[in-house]
Amino acid sequence: MFLALKSIVALSVPILSFLAEEAYLHMPEVFGFRKFESVFFETYDRMLFSKSKITFENEAKINRFFSEVEKIREKFLEIIDKMRKSKEVGNSLEIELKISVPPFDFCSMEEMEKILEEFFIVSSVKFSVGDPELLEVKRYENTKKCPRCWKYFEGESEICKRCEIVIGSQYKDIYKDVYSKSN
Ligand SMILES: [Zn+2]
Repeated sequence: MFLALKSIVALSVPILSFLAEEAYLHMPEVFGFRKFESVFFETYDRMLFSKSKITFENEAKINRFFSEVEKIREKFLEIIDKMRKSKEVGNSLEIELKISVPPFDFCSMEEMEKILEEFFIVSSVKFSVGDPELLEVKRYENTKKCPRCWKYFEGESEICKRCEIVIGSQYKDIYKDVYSKSN
């Protein structure tokens, strides 16, 4: 999925420049991929799936890993569906998830945490390495909601750390107003 995203973003640059830039700035830095300040500094060699040599080496491993994680997600989706029907939660971003994933070596633990949060669309994923398993699905106790990405987070700031990095901390005050209105 990440490789497909990279390719689509790269191919959109000449046609949908602003959209491509916005998507690029939201892209996670995973699997060793590091972003530039702007998508306009990128090269097709770095971005296009067919040209990406580094990721091909890990492709089989990554596929194996995610086929296991996918099974966990299926269970998770069943649970969240029930929780939504019984009005326990509004959406999956209100969830803190605990899972156990198979061993991996294609990215760091921090990168994996980000990937899993995006994969499950939850505010927080705590994971251990072992037999793939869904351990706990519970409401995120922190009620501070980021006005930009709607994820729940801990900390003093008005927006979550990840958004702060994406938009640059000098702009975070813009969100102060939005935040105070939404609460
Ligand atoms: Zn955020």
